[in-house]
Amino acid sequence: MDEEKKRKVMVAVIVGCLLTAAGIFYFTNIRGSGVGGGSRGPIYFLCVNEKCKHQFEMSSNDYAEKMREIGPEAMMMGQTPTECPKCNEQSAYIAEKCLACGTYFVPDYMNNTDYPDRCPSCGHSDIEDQVKQNPQE
Ligand SMILES: [Zn+2]
Ligand SMILES: [Zn+2]
Repeated sequence: MDEEKKRKVMVAVIVGCLLTAAGIFYFTNIRGSGVGGGSRGPIYFLCVNEKCKHQFEMSSNDYAEKMREIGPEAMMMGQTPTECPKCNEQSAYIAEKCLACGTYFVPDYMNNTDYPDRCPSCGHSDIEDQVKQNPQE
């Protein structure tokens, strides 16, 4: 594995995530609540409460609404937990849904020895697949 390439891909993913979050926030802020931005799919959440582990989806618009309540300062601090609808704790994080097996998990962007989107259940990583499909020229 080419470490340099791997690092670039991960940086791109992290930046992409931040831009997505910021984009949702600004986009809906400008256009006002309730105005459908259109084509974005749902955002997946996973409750990290050991006793709960609830998995759920939220539309981008609903999430933007929540972000507005929390405020942009909190977003800049990193991922802010969302209230879990099942246990009512502030313990639901944006999760990845594994394309291979459907497991929900919170990607570990701080771990730089492996891909952050590695599925803890089946080991599938979408980033890894992309890297493999586009080998270094
Ligand atoms: Zn919960
Ligand atoms: Zn999986």
